Amino acid sequence: MTVSFSIRALSKRYGAGAMTVQALNDVSFDITQGELIMLVGPSGSGKSTLLNILGGLDHASSGEVRFGDTVLTALKDKALTLYRRRHVGFIFQFYNLIPSLTARENVDLVREIADDPLSAEEALGLVGLTERMHHFPSQLSGGEQQRVAVARAIAKRPAILLCDEPTGALDLQTGVQVLEALSRINSAYGATTLVVTHNADIARMGSRIVHFADGQVRAIDENARPALPSELVW
Ligand code: ADP
Repeated sequence: MTVSFSIRALSKRYGAGAMTVQALNDVSFDITQGELIMLVGPSGSGKSTLLNILGGLDHASSGEVRFGDTVLTALKDKALTLYRRRHVGFIFQFYNLIPSLTARENVDLVREIADDPLSAEEALGLVGLTERMHHFPSQLSGGEQQRVAVARAIAKRPAILLCDEPTGALDLQTGVQVLEALSRINSAYGATTLVVTHNADIARMGSRIVHFADGQVRAIDENARPALPSELVW
């Protein structure tokens, strides 16, 4: 099994003096390539902070994160931007689609900055939206808009997919559909996928569930669904 991320004694503090917030406090665990990991825990327990550091959107205060042979925590902003652009797809709770562009045009925007992207048709096909390709966001349901956001995130064939409450604005059934799309893509192409969720039914769809509290990992559950032994990403 190839390790995707190795996280060691990772800590993140925001602010200074009496105002200091310890968002992550000595977090260590490994993530294997191709895993679908669910991050759960109370609001404020550090889940988004971890996602942001793994995604190169934020710097750690101390500790180390390796992505393959690269020490992410040693990279400066420019190198982190390249890492993010090449390797990371992000999906957030709110879909952030451009209202005046169709589903296909929204996906096409990201393809322009990628080296070897999927076509917009392929990416939208993978999330079951071939028929809706020419619709504008306002003509799509919340679940469909989120699947366009998934298509946009995967169009550059990222090795890593980071999803911060991707189902937070959806009802359970629609949320499960979005997760099924993410799970299918994770199984078929081996992109290491991390999903922050508050929903226990969604969390059970992962290969492992990592429980956070007070900036620490308190427990890791192995689920029935195994991690893929895939060496190949895309
Ligand atoms: P979760 O995703 O589990 O809800 P977060 O990682 O967003 O938790 O937040 C962890 C802690 O760090 C919280 O106390 C939060 O208020 C704080 N925090 C997060 N981002 C910032 C920031 N940019 N500045 C100051 N405090 C922050």
